[in-house]
Amino acid sequence: MALLEVRDLRTTFRTDDGLVTAIDGVSFSLEKGQVLGIVGESGSGKSVTSLSIMGLLPRGSAATSGQVLLDGRDLLTLGEEEMRKIRGQEIAMIFQDPMTSLNPVYTVGWQLIEAVRLHQDVSQTAATKRARDMLAAVGIPNPDERLRQYPHEFSGGMRQRVMIAMALANDPKLLIADEPTTALDVTTQAQILELIRRLRTDFDSAIVMITHDLGVVAEICDDVLVMYGGRVAEQGGVDDIFARPRHPYTWGLMGSMPSRSHGMDRLQSIPGSPPSLLRPPPGCRFSPRCPYVMDICRGDPPPPLRQVEDDPHFHVEACHLDAASKREEAARLLAAQEIVR
Ligand code: SF4
Repeated sequence: MALLEVRDLRTTFRTDDGLVTAIDGVSFSLEKGQVLGIVGESGSGKSVTSLSIMGLLPRGSAATSGQVLLDGRDLLTLGEEEMRKIRGQEIAMIFQDPMTSLNPVYTVGWQLIEAVRLHQDVSQTAATKRARDMLAAVGIPNPDERLRQYPHEFSGGMRQRVMIAMALANDPKLLIADEPTTALDVTTQAQILELIRRLRTDFDSAIVMITHDLGVVAEICDDVLVMYGGRVAEQGGVDDIFARPRHPYTWGLMGSMPSRSHGMDRLQSIPGSPPSLLRPPPGCRFSPRCPYVMDICRGDPPPPLRQVEDDPHFHVEACHLDAASKREEAARLLAAQEIVR
């Protein structure tokens, strides 16, 4: 059995203007030591997916259905008390802005030690040693001295390292990283990705990487889920999707990556904006922005996710275009872009 198995996850919010279906039937599984990327623009449902898994959505206004099986146990059936024990111990999360999780009035050491003692019955000395070791493990120099400092005394990249240390302090089985490098400069971003790649091996954690950037997916992930308007557009192994992308939205995301031939010069953003989930367009939700739109797309939702015929591995997509057109268009785009991997 997979470490994490998400089956037909649906999350709906009750708002003053009506019901919003933020995630509509997401399924995936994840093994130990594996990294899954969930990629899409803001409003695609990727962050709501992670918050639904963590049980962090407001219970009064959000309703989640389906199954989230962690080691076979369905997290959606657990109460708040049980979920609190699981969060931080079995599943940990890091966010784009570490300051949302670090308390500015306590030292980094105090916060790390608290995180350890909240979930482990260990002495102050043992917790302090663990905190120090974790700072060293994430590449923070002079960890003994750093334990005594406050979050504002760390740079953005170092704060993100502290967050990662805190998230991994209790050896979680699953780490969810929500845009962990978005706020960082390019050099620090590369360092943090390298750190996550190393920790995945050292700690054997499974990682869900939430990102808007297909470049991050290419760097670090084994599998990828491309989301649009709360639904899965395309899903499969990263190598397969980069070799045989089959959904126009994936093509659009790939167009916004640097290419070998023109570097950053001709990055193309996808025209238009993501759909309102309160009143999504009928038919395919990508239809108002899709360069390949057909009449059927404006009336009928795409068929359920289907296996890509010419791919030997699990690789599914949902689009009305016929298989031959998808093959030809993908080949043309890949040749034109020379995507850098
Ligand atoms: Fe484009 Fe139609 Fe495919 Fe949607 S179903 S992605 S509109 S071609």
